[in-house]
Amino acid sequence: MTAPMLRLLSLGAGVQSTVLALMACRGELPGLDGAIFADTGWEPQSVYAQVDRLEAELSAAGIPLYRVSKGNLRGDALDPEHRFVSVPYYTHSAAGEDGMARRQCTSEYKLVPINRKVRELLGAKAPTFRTVPKGRVAEQWIGFSTDEMHRVNDRRQNRYTLKRFPLLELGMSRKDCERWLKVLGWGHTVKSSCIGCPFHGNAHWRDMRDNHPDEWADACDFDRRIRKGNAGAAPIRGEAFLHRSRVPLELAPIDRVTRREHADLQLEIFDEFAEQGDLDGCSPYGCRSGQPISPSTERTAA
Ligand code: SF4
Repeated sequence: MTAPMLRLLSLGAGVQSTVLALMACRGELPGLDGAIFADTGWEPQSVYAQVDRLEAELSAAGIPLYRVSKGNLRGDALDPEHRFVSVPYYTHSAAGEDGMARRQCTSEYKLVPINRKVRELLGAKAPTFRTVPKGRVAEQWIGFSTDEMHRVNDRRQNRYTLKRFPLLELGMSRKDCERWLKVLGWGHTVKSSCIGCPFHGNAHWRDMRDNHPDEWADACDFDRRIRKGNAGAAPIRGEAFLHRSRVPLELAPIDRVTRREHADLQLEIFDEFAEQGDLDGCSPYGCRSGQPISPSTERTAA
């Protein structure tokens, strides 16, 4: 097998990939040639601050950070001139069925620009950066921890990258990573995801509402504007929502309810997923939550 000529970190800027970046900076993981952050254009300020802070650390260690982008996910979803990009909205069809749209946004706004940058770094020629010279391969570090084994898929996605999972080799869980970061003064590392990602749990939405009112207003405004789906496609016959209750975000039941209240309301909103959201976050390399749930509510069938 061809030996990799580059080691690159896919930097989501969440807990696990932040650990990998800092370990590389400290020499605890050797030989990192660069980190790539895919910017959807709609991350919260805390994530951009985290990326800036990491960039300073990486730069001091002589490791370049590459920021890549396919565009602004929010703007594109609301732009009637923009080709349809499927975001995993919760849907309620005209026939009364609940479902969920496909998650294509992660691939389009993260995986595609990351791979393009990898090909460029491996010597693919401008302007398309499509073809990597034969025999050139990059080792790509992905920050899955031991509690995320279900996400690991080491099947090769192309001929120019070899996936590697350093946290699995180190036997580190997410909790281990959090402890490691805390000791280093990085205890407030946030989960990277778009402001209006439908996979936020109630805890995330509450925190946004209570502590980041501008981002909350942004998400509520977006939610109102996607009721008929993204602007660049035919309107769906049902309705789309950011919150799993399938009511407008500003009215959605995101406050904690007691088990008694829950029983009285007879709502399924007190489970772990509703409260915490997708703990795995948004990764282009292993989607637990990105599978289509109900094709009947997808745009083409709605
Ligand atoms: S964070 Fe959510 S909305 Fe953003 S790219 Fe990932 S799945 Fe899509």
